[in-house]
Amino acid sequence: MKRIVIKIGSNVLTRPDGTLDVTRISSLVDQVQAIRADGAQVLLVSSGAVACGRSLLGRGGATHKLDPVEQRQLFSAVGQVRLIGLYSRLFQDWNTTVGQVLTMKESFSTRREYLNQRACMEVMLSNGVIPIINENDTVSVTELMFTDNDELSGLVASMMDADTLVILSNVDGVYDGPPSDPASKVIAKVLPGEDLSDGISAQKSGFGRGGMRSKYAIASHAAEEGIRVLIANGKREGIVKDLYFGVPGTVCTEFVPAQGAVSSVKKWIAHSSGFAKGTVTVNADACKALCGEQAVSLLPVGVVSVEGDFEEGDIIGILDPSGVQFAVGRSAYSAAQAREVVGRHDCRPLVHYDYLSLL
Ligand code: GLU
Repeated sequence: MKRIVIKIGSNVLTRPDGTLDVTRISSLVDQVQAIRADGAQVLLVSSGAVACGRSLLGRGGATHKLDPVEQRQLFSAVGQVRLIGLYSRLFQDWNTTVGQVLTMKESFSTRREYLNQRACMEVMLSNGVIPIINENDTVSVTELMFTDNDELSGLVASMMDADTLVILSNVDGVYDGPPSDPASKVIAKVLPGEDLSDGISAQKSGFGRGGMRSKYAIASHAAEEGIRVLIANGKREGIVKDLYFGVPGTVCTEFVPAQGAVSSVKKWIAHSSGFAKGTVTVNADACKALCGEQAVSLLPVGVVSVEGDFEEGDIIGILDPSGVQFAVGRSAYSAAQAREVVGRHDCRPLVHYDYLSLL
């Protein structure tokens, strides 16, 4: 069974004035049904709540006095209801039930919450319910927010072991130069290990928070974990079906997945670098060993210092002797315990290989 995460950006779902584009959403719903009928399991990551809420309230007079955080909270609270209501109604025409999952970056930071979320989405899928996921913009505050829903969709695809992640925005894919330059072309394929990030525009468009740079970074990361990623234009008629059925000539950027499975614990750790509670600096030998071909754990003998305050089980960053973070892992010691064993030979690993991820 194929499992597919489809991220739909605000600019696809809304018209230029921010109102929900019912015709477009209806077409996307029909296409999702078509691929489900072929046996695909689909999870939707849908933006559009803030833009929709703004269109409902924005011209009401009082809202211009609100600060950006208040606006986001108010608009998302109002817009999310409309958005999910529309999806629910449209899928109901196909006798399909949807469920809403609102989440936050913090919910990916502890393994327990991560597993809870995964269990929630699994039980929805196994009961034929389509999870429709968005960030809980009503309570997530600036520094703890996802960069954008692209980041959220990458985390969901990884967490749910998806085969494919489809990111739909209002451009045809990743361009090899500024999209406004007529000489720029859509990059058809990015192979594992290939880095084309230099030519990619940092420009953002319209209502969404994300840009092409962040899409590129998220797509590469997911592809490294073995997920095929397709970035395409959600405004093109029939795009979801065309991508799924591999219709020749469909314009998109495909990130070819790396071979070799990554364990789910490692996936979680790889995505957790932003939550590191502290860091340890290792010596050159330890750094070389950890980066080598052999799977090795980080032993206290290779550690030269411990920074910050963390508990056993927390995520920590691992720095090379020049202070550059090159790995992230789950600490088997608290910061205080780790300080006691720095440089010692006779102790169990500080970070076991199974809980270590190179950046
Ligand atoms: N969560 C936001 C919304 O639903 C969108 C974030 C983004 O642009 O990626 O409006």
